Amino acid sequence: MDGEDSTIPRDVDVAVVGGGVVGMSAALFLARAGRSVAVFDRTEPWSDASGSNAGTLSIQAMRVEVLAMARLGIALWRRFQEEDGMDVGFARLGGFLVATGDTHIAHLRDYAAQQALSGLELEWLEANRMRDRAPWLGRAVRAATFCEEDSHASPLLAGNAVIAAARRAGAHVLSQTPVESIAREGAGYAVTTRFGVTRCRAVVVTAGPWSGEIARMLGVALPLYVDTNMLTITEPGPKVFDRVVSHVAGILTLKQYENGTCMIGGGWQGRGVFTTGQRKTDYDRLRQNWATATSVVPGLANLRAVRSWAGFQAVTPDALPVIGRLPGHEQAYIAAGARGGFHMGPAQALALSEMIQGRAPPLDLTRFDPGRFA
Ligand SMILES: Cc1cc2nc3c(=O)[nH]c(=O)nc-3n(C[C@H](O)[C@H](O)[C@H](O)COP(=O)(O)OP(=O)(O)OC[C@H]3O[C@@H](n4cnc5c(N)ncnc54)[C@H](O)[C@@H]3O)c2cc1C
Repeated sequence: MDGEDSTIPRDVDVAVVGGGVVGMSAALFLARAGRSVAVFDRTEPWSDASGSNAGTLSIQAMRVEVLAMARLGIALWRRFQEEDGMDVGFARLGGFLVATGDTHIAHLRDYAAQQALSGLELEWLEANRMRDRAPWLGRAVRAATFCEEDSHASPLLAGNAVIAAARRAGAHVLSQTPVESIAREGAGYAVTTRFGVTRCRAVVVTAGPWSGEIARMLGVALPLYVDTNMLTITEPGPKVFDRVVSHVAGILTLKQYENGTCMIGGGWQGRGVFTTGQRKTDYDRLRQNWATATSVVPGLANLRAVRSWAGFQAVTPDALPVIGRLPGHEQAYIAAGARGGFHMGPAQALALSEMIQGRAPPLDLTRFDPGRFA
């Protein structure tokens, strides 16, 4: 049981189920707004996908449907770092979204046109102009868009900073406390863990890929599936590139940190068995991921990979998140299933926090309504 919060509160305004980036940020916003909050996590908060992702905040790699949320996400990461004094490792480096084959170029043009219509400022680059701007890009790269707003944050630093800030604001953060059941009780809910029952006026489901399980406790069936994403980190090397890089086909994300290590990701799937918790890397796919990375940034070829790992992420059938009230409930909320869920985590959390306080969310959530799957 967690030392700092060894007493389970018996009555709170809001119970948050799942202490990843979404749940912890929601707890932070709600506690700052004066609500009493308890966050329950089955293991350690921020230890699952939120603590083991690539930290890419690439706005131009996001679908237009989530652009407003992605922008708010970056603004909040920046606010954490620059205004709230929380070291979340935020850096606005600017980034390239690259295309290699002809189909990718057509896709990139399409993407850029849609995003420009939504107000995102992008620069189209090819041939000499692209080589001048980014001489470290390989010959395989045929075109790219540059976006000044692309950034990254550090999942590890962010976890420490957000958890500490939520605690300072008064939130109870309870590790090793899996929620076993949730029942309606009067106008609120009774949340049961192995330590007993906590009563609350509102419940927030932010349990990542386990969110479907928690929603079922509330009588709601949602089609949440699980991806097993992989990442590789290299040994430190000389500075090769200084921007965030992503591939328009979703097969590469790349960044080099100040200490010279490179993080290589991009949606290549590992071999996960969600029911047993087993998450293994797939060597052949890692090799393809590595080959894509070194064709896009050939300077990486001199570095050695030191570690690869895999983690679970929730996905929905339409690849858009579920955010809002659970169908049939006035005071049970969910946010899960976002691709780019680290990037948009604080934005999803702020939206829920505003709704719980009876205010309009800062974003139009209509498209993300969990009721679309009811
Ligand atoms: C390898 C990898 C790379 C990624 N790279 C990026 C990236 O670069 N940029 C980006 O934006 N996104 C990225 N993502 C996605 C991102 O990490 C996730 O979308 C995001 O972290 C999800 O946060 P969350 O708070 O919804 O859930 P999680 O971080 O999954 O947290 C859910 C929490 O719920 C808890 N829980 C589960 N069941 C219960 C229960 N019964 N009771 C209590 N607690 C429970 C779990 O213990 C866990 O701590 C990546 C994901 C992976 C796996």
